[in-house]
Amino acid sequence: MLAPNLYQLRMGVGHAYLWRDPGSLTLIDTGIPGSGERIVEAIERLGWDPDELRTVFLTHFHPDHAGGAAELATRKGVTVVAHRLDAPVIRGEASGPEPDMAGAPQWERDLYAEVPHLPPAPPAPVHREVEDGDELDIAGGALVVGTPGHTDGSVALHLPDPGVLFTGDIAAGANGGVMFGVFHSDRERALGSFRRLATLEVETLCFGHGDPLLGGAGVALRRAADALD
Ligand SMILES: [Zn+2]
Repeated sequence: MLAPNLYQLRMGVGHAYLWRDPGSLTLIDTGIPGSGERIVEAIERLGWDPDELRTVFLTHFHPDHAGGAAELATRKGVTVVAHRLDAPVIRGEASGPEPDMAGAPQWERDLYAEVPHLPPAPPAPVHREVEDGDELDIAGGALVVGTPGHTDGSVALHLPDPGVLFTGDIAAGANGGVMFGVFHSDRERALGSFRRLATLEVETLCFGHGDPLLGGAGVALRRAADALD
């Protein structure tokens, strides 16, 4: 539990998060393919009702984030939400851009050579396409923040009221802090997106990879962005 209405589901590769509003649950990202059942079980273990899952928000198409979407989309009342530029990839109608490692530092290229490369996620429907500035009826009003550069349609989700930001892979948790994410399709654009996230007022950061940052997250994000200059 990160907050009374916020849970992290540790998925091995790529975290998913649950946000709870009265009578409705929102899942942010879905883990690797095959995670759907695990997520439903986790909801039950929390004492919540999986039938209240309404929104599956995908930060981008990578299989460690969109992997469980196809399974969860078969549940009644579930709306899968993604940016319009990643939606065709999630639906299996197009292939997405590969990470561009040419401009990445050597340690990141070494890491990329080491990590397992998953096949694309099973095609999943996207019921609602969003873009930067769109509002979702979550936590009293959640804002979609366009963060292009990790993928073309990568997005963050900002809950201004509780001060929570789901960063996707533009940022990652590391050593109790925050770092610029890895494996971007366009590093320069991703840097711009990271800097944009650093302008938001947030207390809690929920990353796709690495431990969440609870408390003072906005300050940590700005410090990390300044260090990149
Ligand atoms: Zn990713």
